[in-house]
Amino acid sequence: MPIKQQNQLVETSRRLVDKGINRGTSGNISLRFGQDFLITPSGIEPHLMSAGDICLLDMAGNLLEGAKPSSEWRMHRDVYLARPDIQAVVHTHSTFATTVACLEQAVPPFHYMIAVTGGNTIPCAPYALFGSQELSDAAVAALGKGYACLLAHHGMLAAGYSLDHALTVTIEAESLCEQYWRLLQTGKVPLLNDAQMAAVHDRFKDYFKR
Ligand SMILES: [Zn+2]
Repeated sequence: MPIKQQNQLVETSRRLVDKGINRGTSGNISLRFGQDFLITPSGIEPHLMSAGDICLLDMAGNLLEGAKPSSEWRMHRDVYLARPDIQAVVHTHSTFATTVACLEQAVPPFHYMIAVTGGNTIPCAPYALFGSQELSDAAVAALGKGYACLLAHHGMLAAGYSLDHALTVTIEAESLCEQYWRLLQTGKVPLLNDAQMAAVHDRFKDYFKR
């Protein structure tokens, strides 16, 4: 197995815990690897995880190497199948994204940085049982051509053209959800309009060059 990519997944999992995004064994990360993909294991805390725990699966879901992949491997696999541009997927139960997801609400364009997630909202996929094909289908549909979506009564899914990009989107989406949650306390949330968001997307084309 590719040791460099295995180590990247372990290090990124630890960074998500250190930043307070993930706790315990919740959350999982994957990385496209040729025709296959690497994914973090089920039930191992990132600080106790080693490179050898990372699992390699093919796109049919067959376990090629490793012992026990994350129960959400379908959701990761299906994003890679639906989106050839995506190289890494991050799934978290981070506090504020999950809070908004439990309201079954998309995050509207209250702040221009919503554009970092790819669209004018962070959509919310309807609830489905964790690990199920139904959840995966809902997540892929909600993600669309964007880089992040909420999962109702569950958490968040972020995707990127690199592991760093997926991590950046994850941290930004969590921060936006915290700000949105605070705004909800005031009872009113003024929004940017489509023209204002279009101008942001236009500016970001240069700003976030791959
Ligand atoms: Zn989950």
